[in-house]
Amino acid sequence: MADNAGGWIDDLASSVMKVKGKHVIASAITTSGPTHLGTVEEFFFPSVVSERLKEMGDDPDFIFIGDVMDAFDSVPAGQKGDLAYYLGKPLISVPDPYGCHKSFGEHFLQETVDFMHKLGVSPRVIPVNKLYSEGQYDEYAKIFFTRLDDVKQILERTSLKKLPPSWKDVIMPICEKCGNIATTRVTGFDGEYVYYADDKDVGYAKGCGHQGKIPLSSHQWKMPWRLDWPTRQAFLGVTLEGAGKDHHTKGGSWDTAEAIHREILNRDPPITYRWGFVLLNGKKMSKSQGIGSLSTIVKYVPPEVLKYFLLRVDIEKDKNLDDSGEGLLKLIEEFEENLKRPRDPKKQFALHFSSPSDAWEVPFVSLLLAYQIERIWEGTKKRVGIKSDYLRPYVEAWVNGDKLPEIYRINYRPSKQNEGIIYTWLSALNGTESGFQASQKLREVAQQNSIQIESAFSQAYAVLIGRPNGPRLSSLIDAIGLLRIKNDVIGRLRTWLETDTLTCVC
Ligand SMILES: [Zn+2]
Ligand SMILES: [Zn+2]
Repeated sequence: MADNAGGWIDDLASSVMKVKGKHVIASAITTSGPTHLGTVEEFFFPSVVSERLKEMGDDPDFIFIGDVMDAFDSVPAGQKGDLAYYLGKPLISVPDPYGCHKSFGEHFLQETVDFMHKLGVSPRVIPVNKLYSEGQYDEYAKIFFTRLDDVKQILERTSLKKLPPSWKDVIMPICEKCGNIATTRVTGFDGEYVYYADDKDVGYAKGCGHQGKIPLSSHQWKMPWRLDWPTRQAFLGVTLEGAGKDHHTKGGSWDTAEAIHREILNRDPPITYRWGFVLLNGKKMSKSQGIGSLSTIVKYVPPEVLKYFLLRVDIEKDKNLDDSGEGLLKLIEEFEENLKRPRDPKKQFALHFSSPSDAWEVPFVSLLLAYQIERIWEGTKKRVGIKSDYLRPYVEAWVNGDKLPEIYRINYRPSKQNEGIIYTWLSALNGTESGFQASQKLREVAQQNSIQIESAFSQAYAVLIGRPNGPRLSSLIDAIGLLRIKNDVIGRLRTWLETDTLTCVC
């Protein structure tokens, strides 16, 4: 692709290339519920930079960390099973409501990984509990305990929040009695044991009151996010890691991470960048509210279109998805239009990294119409003249689901309730014309016969699908097939014209 067309991707990749040593591109999510479109940003943007680095001859390690130790802080809407009991416990201790994984956290991590694969993204996936149980965080926890006052001062300064005078929470122990992680509070550390009290009230969970101690080496703890993030970036040697813009505001966790790197760990922080939110019909997506569930969207929209959607505007801007049938079809059409005639370099770059399949041979809408006429896929392919089956599941989902806008819902039933203009029009065609040429001919015939063009088109729709309007006439004609229309309609009209006393305009 052309130099500099990649905008932010090229800028980030060039910055990474200046860093010596093996490059590690990191991403992560908390697996607290069904994957939504906002989650896709978390793995897709870093994957694009990683791809660009490969194009530049680099061999980056692209990793994705599943934060399965985070506290379960809300039961996602519509989730089956009684999960409220587990609020405040690590996601890895909450049962999988679907019963197919060891835990809730692992179930939704797998779901996210499955979506990644669907989008052609394959990072090295690391569940964070693996890093804890390997002891990777231990030395850092000791450093933070040793420099407790400095760490506390950084946290207060960068999060713009005051901490209690007795604060020692550089780790969050898991209560041995009730299993909570969200409600425990560190009361001391003797170099080996962490002393804690499970007595906090965090709103969604309350501590059981237990006081105990666990050895640091038990790994029955995790760090709070603001310390966990820079710690793992340090031991994993992360070169580049971005985050949603909420982490990058004043008081956000990036300021903390940066200060921990520089002031406590005496190292440079990774290169960072920020992205805007994905909104669904103007609303922020939410795992816990089930807004923007990806499983629905990917049924209707092929991966390259989703990727195009995420890349077509600047990374820092919010991206609003209209998930109505009209909105999604409009997105698909915009994608196709740019694929056919790339003009804007930004869009061209979006297309390059969305890796479109070569199956986009005919407009998607033509497939939707043809499938409704033919009812079987093989016939549909033949009708529109394509070879690939790639778009089949999407076409079937649209036609068989409830997203297809009414205007595209067609039922071909040639009827005779018509004026002679249609007979004149079809007689003037030899049947080999394209839908576009045929609809142009209808305009001509209407003009020659002093009939309003709108009225002629209404009559064409009426005779083909029994109503005065429909999808673009040219697409409709292509979907049904002009020869078939001629045979069906002229045959019927002729019989009718012969038996009725109609004034033919021909
Ligand atoms: Zn499962
Ligand atoms: Zn407890």
